[in-house]
Amino acid sequence: MGHLVLRHLSKRFHKQGIPALRDLSLTVEPGEIFALLGPSGCGKSTTLNLIAGLLEPDPWPHPGEIWLDGILLNPRPPERRGVTLLSQHSRLFPHLSVGENVAFGLKMRGVPRAEREAAALRMLERVQLAGFAQRRPSQLSGGQAQRVALARALVIRPKLLLLDEPLSALDANLRQEMQALIRELQAETGVTTVLVTHDQVEATAMAHRIGLMFAGQLHQVGSPAEFYQRPRSERVARFFGGVNFLDAQGEGHQLRLSTGILLKSAVPLQGQVRLTVRPEQVQVFPQPPGLAENVFPAQVVAERFAGPQRRLQLRTGWGNLEAWVNPHQMFAPGQAVWIHLPPEALWPVEGEPSPPAPLPAQALRAAHATTPGPSPSPHPRPLSLWERGVKLNLEPRQR
Ligand code: ADP
Ligand code: MG
Repeated sequence: MGHLVLRHLSKRFHKQGIPALRDLSLTVEPGEIFALLGPSGCGKSTTLNLIAGLLEPDPWPHPGEIWLDGILLNPRPPERRGVTLLSQHSRLFPHLSVGENVAFGLKMRGVPRAEREAAALRMLERVQLAGFAQRRPSQLSGGQAQRVALARALVIRPKLLLLDEPLSALDANLRQEMQALIRELQAETGVTTVLVTHDQVEATAMAHRIGLMFAGQLHQVGSPAEFYQRPRSERVARFFGGVNFLDAQGEGHQLRLSTGILLKSAVPLQGQVRLTVRPEQVQVFPQPPGLAENVFPAQVVAERFAGPQRRLQLRTGWGNLEAWVNPHQMFAPGQAVWIHLPPEALWPVEGEPSPPAPLPAQALRAAHATTPGPSPSPHPRPLSLWERGVKLNLEPRQR
């Protein structure tokens, strides 16, 4: 099993501070690899530490609850949760051999020596380290040490495996190998896995589903394909490498650009809309393609070979566009081309929220100061901030 339900998890580290996590609710299905994705500081590790029991959720505004297979984990200490956490910082015990490291969790659980040694050896084989059991951790490379840590985490057969950026210290090739190995072992053991990463490529490669977090909140949950093709917002699209955005007036299946040009949309839309189109879905033709809809003349501004694709910067009558085409298709800067935007490739997104006003350090210091600050500015007025959805009114003493 390994059915994880998170309800209303909030966490604030400082009484007056911005919450690290705000009302996060989420279900992870048994046997699933779920990636928690998001930029640094968005609350991913906090979420994992709450699940592991290293932190307690706030009782306010709702009491946060963590359920695993129908059991409320909140009152249980970390070692009684059936949950294993593996992070980049997970260290092997330096004074124990590799084999003893892997067997350690079983020893703690009272598994007899012969049995735990056999289990550790089997697990070491699975991570391609058969023959390393007698070594010391100091005699391992970084990648080998990570594999031992993975073996140590899996040998106790947890119901839930939590991985907190375990591969971020490894170089690119080793990372891909480890990603494949983790997927393989996960499929074999069926252990429900929550993987934390800030890398959308890693999340896409490894997860069945992704939860994208911004500023302590889940912003979108879905399959990797949905994040590329159906991003909720411009921000999601950009996080997944989206570069093309256009504004239009929706009139059902017809879209009117500011230049008066009409586009056909597969989804009906009304009013002012922002649209995105993946660069790999923009089709580029050296000759008019003989299609009735969504075809425009354009000019190649720049082109660049990028391995699996050729990237073209295009200028159209209504703005710039990037297209990723087959690398065998040759285009020259300055060349006149025709582009086709398939109606189903146009996807409406929520626009960028206006960025929160930066919090002036002085104002913050002044607001928190218990002793009066320096003399007020000539025209003091309350400084109103829209900071991560929390309205704060600060009386600045100094700006
Ligand atoms: P992520 O793992 O997504 O990079 P974290 O969950 O580690 O983010 O942190 C979320 C926010 O909470 C950050 O602003 C971080 O500085 C803050 N934070 C995390 N742990 C602590 C802590 N122990 N004490 C104070 N602030 C913390
Ligand atoms: Mg983290």
